[in-house]
Amino acid sequence: MSTIPATEPSFRESVDLMFNRAVALMELSPGLEEKIRVCNATYTVRFGVRLRGQIKTFTGYRSVHSEHMEPVKGGIRFALTVNQDEVEALAALMTYKCALVEAPFGGSKGGLRIDPREYDDHEMEQITRRFAYELIKRDMINPAQNVPAPDMGTGEREMAWIADQYARMNTTDINSRACVTGKPLNAGGISGRVEATGRGVQYALREFFRHPEDVKAAGMTGKLDGKRVIVQGLGNVGYHAAKFLQDEDGARIVGIIERDGALFSESGLDVDAVRDWIVKHDGITGFPDAVHTADGARVLEEECDILIPAALEGVINLSNAERIKAPLIIEAANGPITAGADDILREKGTVIIPDMYANAGGVTVSYFEWVKNLSHIRFGRMQRRQEESRHELIVQELERLSNHLGDQWSMTPDFKSKYLRGADELELVRSGLDDTMRIAYQSMRNVWHSREDVHDLRTAAYIVSIEKVAASYRAKGL
Ligand code: NAD
Repeated sequence: MSTIPATEPSFRESVDLMFNRAVALMELSPGLEEKIRVCNATYTVRFGVRLRGQIKTFTGYRSVHSEHMEPVKGGIRFALTVNQDEVEALAALMTYKCALVEAPFGGSKGGLRIDPREYDDHEMEQITRRFAYELIKRDMINPAQNVPAPDMGTGEREMAWIADQYARMNTTDINSRACVTGKPLNAGGISGRVEATGRGVQYALREFFRHPEDVKAAGMTGKLDGKRVIVQGLGNVGYHAAKFLQDEDGARIVGIIERDGALFSESGLDVDAVRDWIVKHDGITGFPDAVHTADGARVLEEECDILIPAALEGVINLSNAERIKAPLIIEAANGPITAGADDILREKGTVIIPDMYANAGGVTVSYFEWVKNLSHIRFGRMQRRQEESRHELIVQELERLSNHLGDQWSMTPDFKSKYLRGADELELVRSGLDDTMRIAYQSMRNVWHSREDVHDLRTAAYIVSIEKVAASYRAKGL
């Protein structure tokens, strides 16, 4: 069952409609256009696992949208709503996302139809390993061909099981750890991957607010500081995005929407306190100092500056698009706005920072993790101390000069300690992510502002990424 209203195009059709809108403004041959749009292959697997004395059958998918670059990349989702149309739409978005942020991968996505909350840890491990086994034996998990990552309902734990399962089945593959990203640090992961997608949402918003012309297009002024934010889904992506915006950018989180309703507080909600409450009480209901609304989706329609859908696809659709008041929406989730709703919001002048860019932080840091696994060395390990000793030389020289010139020329203690410290892996990951998010935003906004026939960031994002995919097919002689 899909989360998209039955009266509207499916998720995959919605992605295709948005793709079509962009290619209508490009000069691609019809054959190449079709080649890029279609999903290359989708594998469906049904497998049994013996649980609680009975054999239970599960259905899973792995879809490969485009192999213009390999390996292909894309998360694995565990949810009851998983279906073929959804994984194909998500795989297509991965193709465009990787192209936009220049991560050298084709697009893929996987899913398992399951409610992970119904099973204990041991059962989840059995199910995940069995699903991984089915994919690994067909090379649908492989460091050179297809590299999954976490998505809704999965995280570090599942990625560690998948990596271990691959290693057991490929005992001589020296690159086995690169078969999946989003692993825990002690199993070949990278610092900063858990929060990468939320961090990317923060960097995307920071870059947006660096361009007063773009802020004005959304009918706003000023910086992120003091902006009123509503977030839907306080999971991996939503929690980190909301927390960083609150703690580091001075944004006020006035609304949080979860499965069991929504919380609203004009003075701002403490994101960590809400998260702790959810963990303890399995939902937001009963959280003190905020107004609780049972029909959470209604809160998407409340007044705010920035709306961050970070849960499911299709939540802003023809039934509510007209009533959405936020002037700026950043799609932290994949596909939260249907094609029909997108038309309505564009008409209204709402600025939408599209999913393929907004949530690309995850795949960007996954790319760094994959490179780290293939190079078998932590980022910064070779350079850090060397960098520090060169800085030390400069500091000593400056100290020598300031001794001659007198006290008023001495360095501030803060400068010295900051300058002397070489970057560790986390700092390098953040720097690489920030750079990626800035450059990709600028590539979209260049198209948005330089072409009279492009009126929104989504169409601009599609144009930038389709052009890159097309160039890579042309280079192959297709
Ligand atoms: P998650 O499972 O960690 O969190 C999802 C959250 O949404 C949970 O807190 C859940 O309770 C909540 N939720 C579920 N149904 C809801 C409903 N009807 N209303 C409100 N809240 C609801 O998942 P995630 O990894 O944070 O992924 C969220 C979205 O971000 C998905 O669209 C996913 O494809 C996308 N995304 C995730 C990553 C990543 O690195 N995890 C990367 C890119 C994109």
